[in-house]
Order: sequence, then structure tokens, then C-alpha cells
Amino acid sequence: MSVATITRPRLSQIRSWLAKIPDPEIPVISLIDLGIIRDVAWRGDTLEVTVTPTYSGCPATGVINLEIERTLIEHGIEKLELKRQLSPAWTTAWISAEGREKLTAYGIAPPQEGTAACAGALKPLNVSCPQCGSVKTERISQFGSTPCKAHYRCTECLEPFDYFKSI
Ligand SMILES: [Zn+2]
Repeated sequence: MSVATITRPRLSQIRSWLAKIPDPEIPVISLIDLGIIRDVAWRGDTLEVTVTPTYSGCPATGVINLEIERTLIEHGIEKLELKRQLSPAWTTAWISAEGREKLTAYGIAPPQEGTAACAGALKPLNVSCPQCGSVKTERISQFGSTPCKAHYRCTECLEPFDYFKSI
């Protein structure tokens, strides 16, 4: 009796598949860009994927898990275990440099680290306009299209935009 050789795709390959799954809320960035995939590892013939949800109780979490499962099953992964890791909590600092570029290109100002703006009563930050790059911007409201975005307007090109708040 010999142990059957199981073809296990390389982890870099698996990460590249996961890098194609869009974030349900901001589809322009992937789950890898968002930084919520904390670990991908083989344990025997079972693939373990560790995920840290962005905001606790976020309704997108269920969708994200389903998308991960669907994608990996499509690529022939038979045994899969999704692990949910709540600590340390996700922070916007985990968004990759590539993810930040994609956000800007999409018209959302990426989060500025060290500015816990979700806390509320802070004065508006000097957020650069994703359209023209001007820092002459003003906050219109604390909340944008989702609670963790704030709504801004550029006073140079007059374009409104969302700022992804730092948490
Ligand atoms: Zn502008």
C-alpha cells in the first residue's frame, strides 16, 4: 500500500486565483489587495485558508467565503477549510500598495494611515482628490456610500468622491 500522491497546487498559484476574487463592496480591488486573506496553507491534503473579515458583522463576509470556496473548487481543490481569524483585527493598513492604486484609479481616495477617522468627530483630513490630485478638498459628510467611506468634494475640479476611512 502506498500513499496516493495528491496533486497540491502551489501556494503562489492559489494566491493568484484568490487575487482574482473581487471585494463584494468595492469590486475594483481583490480580496488579496484588501489584505483579508491572512494565510493559505496545506495541512495534508486539506487546504486551509485563513480569512480576517474587514468589519465585524459585515454582511459581505458570507459572500466572501462563498466566493473563496467557489473559486477554489473550480480550480480542483477538493478539501478546503476556511478559518476565520478575528484577532488581530483587520485594518486599512493591510490594503496593498496595488490596492491603493486601484482605489485611486477608481475614484476613491485610499485611507491615510494613522488617522482613525471612523471615530467620528475629527476635523476633515487633507485628502487628495483622486481625479486631479489636488489637496484642496472638503468633507461634505462623514458617511459616503458605505459607513466606512466619507464623502468629499474637490474644490479645484469640483468633483465629489469617496474617501476610504482609515481604521
Ligand atoms: Zn480634483
